[in-house]
Amino acid sequence: AGSASTSSVRQVKLDRESELRIEVGNDSPLRLRLLSGNAEIFGTELPPEIWLTLPPRLKIAVFTWYGATLEMDGATETDYTADETPMIGYVNVHAILEARRSRARASSADDSGSTQGPRVIVVGPTDSGKSTLSRMLLSWAAKQGWKPTFVDLDIGQGSITIPGCIAATPIELPIDPVEGIPLEMPLVYFYGHTTPSNNVDLYKVLVKELAQVLERQFTGNAESRAAGMVINTMGWIEGVGYELLLHAIDTLNANVVLVLGQEKLWSMLKDVLKNKPYVDVVKLQKSGGVVSRNAKYRQKARSYRIREYFYGPANDLSPHSNIANFSDLFIYRIGGGPQAPRSALPIGAEPAADPTRLVPVNINRDLLHLVLAVSFAKEPDEIISSNVAGFVYITDIDIQRKKITYLAPSAGDLPGKYLIVGTLTWIET
Ligand code: ADP
Repeated sequence: AGSASTSSVRQVKLDRESELRIEVGNDSPLRLRLLSGNAEIFGTELPPEIWLTLPPRLKIAVFTWYGATLEMDGATETDYTADETPMIGYVNVHAILEARRSRARASSADDSGSTQGPRVIVVGPTDSGKSTLSRMLLSWAAKQGWKPTFVDLDIGQGSITIPGCIAATPIELPIDPVEGIPLEMPLVYFYGHTTPSNNVDLYKVLVKELAQVLERQFTGNAESRAAGMVINTMGWIEGVGYELLLHAIDTLNANVVLVLGQEKLWSMLKDVLKNKPYVDVVKLQKSGGVVSRNAKYRQKARSYRIREYFYGPANDLSPHSNIANFSDLFIYRIGGGPQAPRSALPIGAEPAADPTRLVPVNINRDLLHLVLAVSFAKEPDEIISSNVAGFVYITDIDIQRKKITYLAPSAGDLPGKYLIVGTLTWIET
């Protein structure tokens, strides 16, 4: 007995400074454990001998600095070892950031410039390994006792909360390779779309709001100020995307720009930032292990993120289906619609759509399958500048009875009465 269940177990021996790259299959999880030596997944050390269960579709690398033996149980889509990695370059960056954090902590409070630790922004095209590098830098810092702030500006594939949002959260422990970032009250702003071109101005406004709140938090917290931030960005680096990167660097006062896998972007940024000598623009090699994800995969990944929000990473949460009267909820859309009637404009002027105008939304079946954010705003005019408490998913609209059915993380009253709707949809499967 037992031979059937152990027949797929195999050992992999890793030489120093090499990694095992794994793409878990689509249908079944993979079990993995460290038998001897030391190894880490994206900056987080593996505990010795304990089996980890990697969920379907996960793509990771198990890297070792000094050599390790691993054991795998189950089928994979692919797995291979690689001894060419950019890890030395990455850990050198970490060492420089560590030195700056220590210097910031040692500086006296009246010398305010130098009490600020590194503010690192990671930029590059899609699938250059930005999220992965952000994760490593955060986990390595957390391992050494810092609590750096993670800022995720990627509205397509962010790792703090659901898509369509920008968010920030302190990282207190190395990030769990399976569970990801714990959802403990992150600071979240709802943009409502998965591409910034829907409303570029709104995106900028939200980045600014987030930056202001973080700035205030840093003022009162020398420790997190010294730990600094790691900012992950979108893969959109051309045209408006490039403009948004510059806006983020500026607004969040980044002082280290890490450019992954694109010479041209590095040289453009270096050139445009040369009037800010305190900003270091550093070019880093992209890992050969980064997996390209097509549009369909991305769409699926977004859908899983939303599912995870309601049901938990291991189906361990029980969301609640609630019913409200149309009159109980106040739903707003941000942007769109003419700013002023044509009659109020100078002759010849075209009414422009105000990108940050608040537009009340009538409840009808168009809201079906949309994911809405619950704002912390107390008044409608606070909605744009307020962060959000969480999300609801509209599952039914009964026009006759004027009832709306929605899924929420829990039963009971929503944490606010103002809801924001964008174009973020989800089909529960
Ligand atoms: P970006 O943020 O630039 O779009 P990611 O960091 O999300 O790119 O990487 C894309 C995918 O590749 C992710 O699924 C990530 O887990 C995977 N990945 C990154 N580095 C490696 C590696 N060295 N080996 C295997 N998979 C990797």
